[in-house]
Amino acid sequence: MFKLISELYPICRSITGEGVRETLRILEGIVPIEITEVPTGKKVFDWVIPKEWNIKDAYIQNMEGEKIIDFQTLNLHVLNYSSPVNETVNLEDLKKHLYTVQEWPEWVPYRTSYYAEKWGFCMSHNQMESLKDEKYQVVVDSTLSQGHLTYGEVYIKGKVPDEILISTHICHPSLCNDNLTGIAVCANLARHLLKTDNYYSYRFLFVPGTIGAIAWLALNEKKLKLIKYGLVTSLLGLDNVFTYKRTRSGNTTIDKIVEHVIKKETTNPEIIDFIPYGYDERQYCSPGINLNMGNLTRVPYAQYPEYHTSADNMDLISQIALEDSLSIFIKILRFIEQDRKYLNLFPKGEPQLGKRGLYDHIGGHNDSKTLQMALLWILNFSDGIHTISDVAIRSGIDIDIMAEATEMLFKAGLLKKL
Ligand code: ZN
Repeated sequence: MFKLISELYPICRSITGEGVRETLRILEGIVPIEITEVPTGKKVFDWVIPKEWNIKDAYIQNMEGEKIIDFQTLNLHVLNYSSPVNETVNLEDLKKHLYTVQEWPEWVPYRTSYYAEKWGFCMSHNQMESLKDEKYQVVVDSTLSQGHLTYGEVYIKGKVPDEILISTHICHPSLCNDNLTGIAVCANLARHLLKTDNYYSYRFLFVPGTIGAIAWLALNEKKLKLIKYGLVTSLLGLDNVFTYKRTRSGNTTIDKIVEHVIKKETTNPEIIDFIPYGYDERQYCSPGINLNMGNLTRVPYAQYPEYHTSADNMDLISQIALEDSLSIFIKILRFIEQDRKYLNLFPKGEPQLGKRGLYDHIGGHNDSKTLQMALLWILNFSDGIHTISDVAIRSGIDIDIMAEATEMLFKAGLLKKL
């Protein structure tokens, strides 16, 4: 994952343009990804796909011919979606087009102007303060033209058409935690699912923030009824506490599963109620869509000092945190896969396990007591109301042992699939 992130880091992404396409092409090397191009001007719900933005170069040059700001060394230096410019301006006029972050005077902020055409540059506050009162040549060699918005989709067919949706944003340029970490974890999670035998179908969306999610929803409204629930995710590369923001209704299966897993497997997780602010859960949980989508990150939305600055770079994130995040997702998937109901076919009294060879089987198991408890829990709660993951959460027994016990009971003819 770290290697993938270092490959993606230098690319100048935005909500449209070649940077997004190049990113998706690199992801294609990991998972088969279906790429959709939505043309400029297409209406998607209340929005319109904007002009496509591409950029070759940008710099600010002083009168000595020295480039004091160079897009080639850091793409955050250009206001993302900046309109083209080639002018000589004085310091006072230049400052009207400069963006800095005063609290962190050494860092370059990441700023965008998607829906208002203007040119601009981002630099450290210290550098802006040190600018001499002279003339500067400003060049942004960008284009805003009729083109497309691009997003990627990975669909993994399971035994049933019911889908689990996982969405992450791909529109940020050279920023690591936000959100190359989300991209890397999702791509690897999809790769993991391609190798396993899955009950549910899974759909991963790699979409530009807001407009990308809205475009996907608008173009796929008919598919929404198949989505059981899902997660929006990002910010997965810091060694911080896991933060889960609940779905809009706050008490759905995905809420129960994620809360259980992060409480059991991680230290001091933070769980917050839904608010209509943050990432693309804003779109998925809008009232006319109303999908059961939670949001899982390693730090609350925007709540870290390096957020949207040049300090959100390769030095900030760690491979260990990424692996940790991936393993938590894999654990969540195991619970999702067991979100299925069975019926105890011998519900009057306990069925006799010994005569069915279940105790013998248990004897050789390295966690035989837990497995025995799992059998009893499953038999008791396979009442047509509870799922296996419900029983795992209630009993606290490991989900893999629950899955194994379910299989044993099913094979012994004690359970029926519902
Ligand atoms: Zn962001």
